[in-house]
Amino acid sequence: MLQKIDHWIDQTLIDFKEERQSCARFTEKFSEYYTEEFLSKSYFVVVDNIPKPRFPELYQAGLGDFVDMEVAGITYKDTYFIKTPFAADISLHFHELVHVHQWSLLGAETFIKRYISEIQTYGYNDAPLETMAYSLQAKFIDNYAPTDVLSYVQNHL
Ligand SMILES: [Zn+2]
Repeated sequence: MLQKIDHWIDQTLIDFKEERQSCARFTEKFSEYYTEEFLSKSYFVVVDNIPKPRFPELYQAGLGDFVDMEVAGITYKDTYFIKTPFAADISLHFHELVHVHQWSLLGAETFIKRYISEIQTYGYNDAPLETMAYSLQAKFIDNYAPTDVLSYVQNHL
């Protein structure tokens, strides 16, 4: 199933390649958190409907609620998808970029495996890959302590 999801992601990224935008535009806004190099190789796509792999295997694995959950954004590898009403929500962009880095550090198969197992074990709200993204997002919103997100994620994975 991991490979099936991985292939679906690759095809989805190809399908949306023309519509993706570079995150380099956030270089100034995120200068205390992300490097320009990282942002320039990360992308986002604004969509009306978030693409999801609705495979029967995922429902059988008890992940139906998660797959069907209404989300404002989702990250697949170096690209995240964000719903139109949230396109200007800068902290959501920030959150999804944490996931871009997690994908990159773990590699696709490990990320998918770990994310699924965390959802099954802890539920979405307490999944460590999510709580890491939410806590960093909160730091950004508070604008209290500039954080090297790339190192932080690397040290806390
Ligand atoms: Zn998240």
